[in-house]
Amino acid sequence: MSLSGETPLFPFINAYARLPEHFFARLAPTPVVNPRLIKVNDALARFLGIDPAQLATPEGVAVLAGNNVPEGAEPLSIAYAGHQFGGFVPQLGDGRAILLGEVIGRDGHPYDVQLKGSGPTPFSRRGDGRAALGPVLREYIVSEAMAALGVPTTRSLAAVTTGEWVYREGALPGAVLTRVASSHVRVGTFQFFAARRDTDGVRTLADYVIARHYPAAREAPNPYRALLDGVVARQATLIAHWMMIGFIHGVMNTDNTSISGETIDYGPCAFMDTYHPETVYSSIDARGRYAFVNQPAIAHWNLTRLAECLLPLLGASDEARLAQANEALAAFAGAFETASAAGLRRKVGLNTAQDGDAGLVYDLLERMDANNADFTLTFRALCDTASDPTKDADVAKLFDTPAAFAEWAVLWRERLAAENGDAIARRDAMRAANPAVIPRNHLIEEAIAAAVASNDFTLFEKLNAVLERPFEDQAAPYTSPPLPHQVVAATFCGT
Ligand code: AMP
Ligand code: MG
Repeated sequence: MSLSGETPLFPFINAYARLPEHFFARLAPTPVVNPRLIKVNDALARFLGIDPAQLATPEGVAVLAGNNVPEGAEPLSIAYAGHQFGGFVPQLGDGRAILLGEVIGRDGHPYDVQLKGSGPTPFSRRGDGRAALGPVLREYIVSEAMAALGVPTTRSLAAVTTGEWVYREGALPGAVLTRVASSHVRVGTFQFFAARRDTDGVRTLADYVIARHYPAAREAPNPYRALLDGVVARQATLIAHWMMIGFIHGVMNTDNTSISGETIDYGPCAFMDTYHPETVYSSIDARGRYAFVNQPAIAHWNLTRLAECLLPLLGASDEARLAQANEALAAFAGAFETASAAGLRRKVGLNTAQDGDAGLVYDLLERMDANNADFTLTFRALCDTASDPTKDADVAKLFDTPAAFAEWAVLWRERLAAENGDAIARRDAMRAANPAVIPRNHLIEEAIAAAVASNDFTLFEKLNAVLERPFEDQAAPYTSPPLPHQVVAATFCGT
């Protein structure tokens, strides 16, 4: 803790703490036995106006572990509800997370600083309020990789171990993640008030969200409709972005759907290795509700739940309200298709739009599906063939039947002939759209295993460093798909 008069560690503004008291529960984190620093995200700290060196001192680590409430913080856990796998739960809330406050980033926007795994809260239900080391490292790796890939996401500012055990399938080392988000308001936060017929609460939250995330909506003729339009648009582009890189969130419940349009709550998430649209990794998603290919439809379903919450604010009559909600929701499909079509064109090097472009790319995807082609490697190898057709064999060898690619390449080159522009420029543009490295499941598991078994964070550090530059060529093992014995069949929430 800094002595009064010194610069505080975090220049908090405490905006959420000014909302009505029934929006949250005020409480401090629960201290842990023996906090040890795993990592501070130096660049993110500086972006937030926080001195990374100070975070790494024993005083800083005490804050990151929840053993000290930093000067200026007004810690609280946020109340929310949500549909989990389609079933409504009227009370969820931060069961193991505490918002310390918000700080202003270099971009002038406020960011939440939240401890995750910081002890029980009034929303913990049967949970212990803690997080195991594995899921903390997984969230750190994947959220930072997503940021480097250019996908809107919550970030990871720091991770610490607690020196305590948490009990899941067995005893596991405990850890705390410091998460940074544009905000932690979720679709489920609106549902919390709507389920209680608390229209004032819905309105107060909507006004807060408009001011924080959608300021232009305030000037619109119907500000709450404009808010809904904004969330629909951001979710559509977010999900399109996921689909371009093979990301599967795994638990797209409404409480894990951010109003700001960021990817949030990295649980059983995973990147696909071989391309199969029905892929599901999450061990708790037995029916494949959150399979890769279902993500756009699920996002629309979640947005429909948000529209229901906002209904009382959308118009003067039932009819008008419904019409507003339906119009806003109907825009999702077009927004998703536009973002997706543009993303797919970039992936195969098309600068111009023609009818049939989407069909061309879906033809490739179907061939990849039928031939067990690696999603990331196929598109990355395709980049080089754009300037050098002698490299076609490097793509074809990723297909069980190489001819399946060769046939498609003929169609692709016919389409490319209608494009102007230099082949090298096309290759470079494709390389900026098709990452060389993604956080592959087996590499994450290896990094976690070393940390859990022997407190060795070397693999974790190396993986993070490589994933900071996903569009640059990288060496094995980071670019390699798993060998058969390395394939991770299922991921676990680990909560
Ligand atoms: P999730 O599936 O991780 O999005 O979490 C769903 C809900 O369960 C949220 O309200 C979490 O805060 C809560 N939760 C998850 N893990 C724990 C835990 N270990 N202790 C208390 N609450 C938890
Ligand atoms: Mg969650």
